[in-house]
Amino acid sequence: MPDERAERVAQLVARLRVEPGSKVRLDRDFDPRDKVGLKKKDSAALLGAGVALLADYQQRLAAQDTYGVLLCLQALDAGGKDGTIRHVMSGVNPQGVRVSSFKVPSVEELDHDYLWRYAQRLPERGDIAIFNRSHYEEVLVVRVHPELLVRQKLPAEARGGDIWERRYREINDWERHLTDNGFKVVKVFLNLSKEEQRTRFLKRLDLPDKNWKFSAADVRERRYWDDYQRAFSEMLSATSTRWAPWYVVPADRKWCARICTAAVLAHTLMDIDPRYPEVDEATRKKLFAARRKLEREAPKGTPPDPYAARHPAETGKKSGKKKRR
Ligand code: ATP
Ligand code: MG
Repeated sequence: MPDERAERVAQLVARLRVEPGSKVRLDRDFDPRDKVGLKKKDSAALLGAGVALLADYQQRLAAQDTYGVLLCLQALDAGGKDGTIRHVMSGVNPQGVRVSSFKVPSVEELDHDYLWRYAQRLPERGDIAIFNRSHYEEVLVVRVHPELLVRQKLPAEARGGDIWERRYREINDWERHLTDNGFKVVKVFLNLSKEEQRTRFLKRLDLPDKNWKFSAADVRERRYWDDYQRAFSEMLSATSTRWAPWYVVPADRKWCARICTAAVLAHTLMDIDPRYPEVDEATRKKLFAARRKLEREAPKGTPPDPYAARHPAETGKKSGKKKRR
């Protein structure tokens, strides 16, 4: 991969990263309409290049089978999580990616500690897991609606003190544990403005084939807009860490959100730089013996190695051309 492209990705991603240890406020520090230096007319080509890059890296990640990647996507309703996942992951092998959506917890899930259900959906080595909503709901919706905390049946001592500070610490520790064991955690917040959310809700009412997406509950949740902004700001400040940083992606323009998310994921994979496993000497000998055996089986009139005969430049073999007499 050309270094120039890697450099561009790194620069874009650096603009979106929440500096670990910094105290941020959404309304003051981030503009949902920002284009972060991108142009719409270039967007299709850029996203296409990003998608191809991700496909290549994902193949290598799977072949190496050492690291896993967890991408957490958070947004307010109509923030564009689904469309972002669909577009960004459109080129990768579905066998190497698992998307998990987290909704209101089930009775079984509420019978466990609050991280339990997320731990069930972590990636295997070689895989990319995407959390559509994530363990961060536990310090967002649960914080904005304290009655949800009551349903979690916590013992008194686990409800005392500053529960949110404690959850931030526990989440940071959990992500640190994952990172130290080869699972990179990367977190994207799709930052939507209140006015763009209103427009998108209305679009769902205006267009008959979008009606199914409309939810009256989502509109009611707008009443808590400011509470969510505060909860997001505190969460970003407390849980953007060196090992698992947050990226705030401007989301009022879908094309921009998709390119930025692809860049964040690509950057994470570039950092891992997965390699195809090297073949050792003993294995190389076995491969050579297998080759000889297969070549001897060539029917009369066909080259010993038809693939090498067709692709001499790729395989560096000349002998493949000789036909068997
Ligand atoms: P979409 O609407 O695009 O299909 P969604 O992620 O909004 O996707 P919904 O089924 O509409 O899915 O909503 C899921 C709901 O579950 C959200 O309102 C979210 O706040 C809620 N939720 C997620 N995690 C928790 C949790 N731990 N406790 C309580 N509610 C949660
Ligand atoms: Mg919803």
